[in-house]
Amino acid sequence: MPSSTSEGGAVPMIEALGVKKRFGSHEVLRGISLSVARGEVVALIGPSGSGKSTFLRCLNHLETIDGGSVSIAGEPMARTDESGRCVYVPDPQLRRICARTGMVFQHFNLFPHLTVLQNLIEAPMVVQGLPRDAAIARADELLAKVGLTQKRDNYPARLSGGQKQRVAIARALAMQPDVMLFDEPTSALDPELTGEVLRTMRELADGRMTMLVVTHEMGFAREVAHTVAFMDQGELIAARPAREFFADPGNARAQAFLNHML
Ligand code: ADP
Ligand code: MG
Repeated sequence: MPSSTSEGGAVPMIEALGVKKRFGSHEVLRGISLSVARGEVVALIGPSGSGKSTFLRCLNHLETIDGGSVSIAGEPMARTDESGRCVYVPDPQLRRICARTGMVFQHFNLFPHLTVLQNLIEAPMVVQGLPRDAAIARADELLAKVGLTQKRDNYPARLSGGQKQRVAIARALAMQPDVMLFDEPTSALDPELTGEVLRTMRELADGRMTMLVVTHEMGFAREVAHTVAFMDQGELIAARPAREFFADPGNARAQAFLNHML
């Protein structure tokens, strides 16, 4: 498992400690701890409703946490104080930390009224203040990388699901994040379209992008992920090097889940 960074330190790119989240009386995350090193690819697996999406959303501040702490690239985003209250860092800093993570959703979430190119340049221009020319240059480079240069001026409605998801990946990369979070990026796709998206993700991993991927694609988890983490009922039950996990998940619930998936 890769753990050291090229900068010589070993600061995790994601460090979640005892993260708790409840919706009303339902405790959805019951103290999740997970650390992801620079360049590491972690596959997060587990049954539906186990809290995987909620956990990812907590890392990107799409949900607030109720307990524990989250740091991104060594920068604390939220922590729990002595009185048990969860405290976030002040807003400009919080937004800057969140911008270090890019998120890709199951349902793409592209802006339907914008072309592919416009989808890619919007946030770099508006959020990062990048001049239009520079944003376009960056977008063109990313479109070439995901193989969609020829779709540059199309609207999302004209794209296949696989193409939409590749645009969504390029759009997240346009913000130059240090970490990519994927929430079941191929679950909404017809089987014949998942391959192209997984290929794009594999290329990202080969380029040493730090990735946390919620997925039901056991092939991807086995071949691309360094580490597999298994969640069930709001708890992170097992996290092991992928090869070890598939040989022996070390836990009966994880084994039952694997038996069902494989
Ligand atoms: P997974 O991604 O593993 O399928 P989720 O994180 O989506 O699991 O959901 C975990 C649990 O939290 C589920 O029981 C779900 O119904 C509940 N949940 C998720 N989001 C909300 C919400 N906004 N309000 C209330 N309950 C929610
Ligand atoms: Mg989910």
